[in-house]
Amino acid sequence: MIPGPIEFEPEVMMAVGMPTTSHVAPDFIESFGHALEMMREVWLAPSGQPFIMAGSGTLAMDMAGANLVEPGDRALVLSTGYFGERYAALLRRYGAEVTVLAAETGNVVSLKAVEEELKRSRYKIMTFTHVDTSTAVRVDPEPLGALGEKYGVITVLDGVCSVAGEVIRQEKWKIDVVLTASQKAVGVPPGLALLVASGRAIEAWQKRKSPVGSYYSDWTHWLSVMKAYEERRPSYFGTPAVNLVSGLEVSLRLILKEGMEPRFRRHRERAEAFREAMKDMGLKMIPVSDEVSANTLSAPFYPEGVRGADFMKAIASSEVILAGGLLPGIKDDYFRVGHMGSVTGGDILTTVAAIRSALAGCGYRRP
Ligand code: PMP
Repeated sequence: MIPGPIEFEPEVMMAVGMPTTSHVAPDFIESFGHALEMMREVWLAPSGQPFIMAGSGTLAMDMAGANLVEPGDRALVLSTGYFGERYAALLRRYGAEVTVLAAETGNVVSLKAVEEELKRSRYKIMTFTHVDTSTAVRVDPEPLGALGEKYGVITVLDGVCSVAGEVIRQEKWKIDVVLTASQKAVGVPPGLALLVASGRAIEAWQKRKSPVGSYYSDWTHWLSVMKAYEERRPSYFGTPAVNLVSGLEVSLRLILKEGMEPRFRRHRERAEAFREAMKDMGLKMIPVSDEVSANTLSAPFYPEGVRGADFMKAIASSEVILAGGLLPGIKDDYFRVGHMGSVTGGDILTTVAAIRSALAGCGYRRP
């Protein structure tokens, strides 16, 4: 029950475990092409350009940063935790002049503050973390997409902890890049960086004056490869993660079989049930309200008198695996529970019971 890598469906593991084929074998070309097509449906971006790369979520962040930023460009980063700070550092590496609007821990940056900043300076790009996995804070991407459109700023959503779990309507919400990794709600073992770019993002990359600062991430190499796979033609720049792509095709098929709207609803209902159970035990959460709480993971504070190390030790001997805190400064004050992808109602109940008995073992009694 950690927020990634999650537990994967047996069908996905079967596909990943099949003998490795050539990256230009006809059946693999079919799998890759089909996975790209299904990404558009999962991202709700019917005219977006999907990319599938071998790498982790940070590579997907890198790909957006490297291709869309030129030295001297201004970038606005909305930070709701650890991964916002990572994006700021990444964009600086490519020469961007970065402004960070950091939310108070547990909250989001207000739309008013974002709009004031966009009015104050001309930005090329704005990034935000849909769900920050360090705080379980969820931002509402829709009005941020609208602000990007209004001020002519390219919007980049880090959806590593949200795609295929939280509601994302990339095209309707006019978000230029939605990126993720395979190991969370997409449901494939770690190793794939996934990204869908809008026509506007591709155009911004085409209009660059300077070469892309990363050789590997450069869309010059990858765009034609993605197009070839979709047209079911062999192509090569770097060897794709063949087995993981086969797993991705199966996982996306399962996601679409469930249906995006039922899947969004299921994640919301499981998350609400989990938060209710935590509140019932007298635990407070990092997100300041339900409105800004993620549906893919939760981050409860330890109650007074319970030491994190003792709690994690007690949990280690239960049947569930939880994650500790991540945000510097408060990392020993809270723990994290992932509830995305294949998580069932039964998993939620088992987890709640394990937390309850670990807390009791630490001497906690509900006030
Ligand atoms: N962004 C967010 C919101 C994440 O949760 C993570 C990973 N937990 C990353 C980026 C980086 O992804 P990866 O670890 O796969 O590089």
